[in-house]
Amino acid sequence: MTSCPVCSNKRAIGKVGSAQYFCWDCCIEFVVRDEETTVFNVEPDGTLTLYLEPLDHVM
Ligand SMILES: [Zn+2]
Repeated sequence: MTSCPVCSNKRAIGKVGSAQYFCWDCCIEFVVRDEETTVFNVEPDGTLTLYLEPLDHVM
């Protein structure tokens, strides 16, 4: 089960690709590739920008 790397919520996760997920709570997308998770902000116009908040302290 995949959980959000930002808020750790599992129920707000939607799958949008083979390894790509969306969190409704954070309005972020994240891509899980092997053991690496890359998080993107979803801008109001739909573009993705890299989520710059360091993840180490929340995990
Ligand atoms: Zn989240």
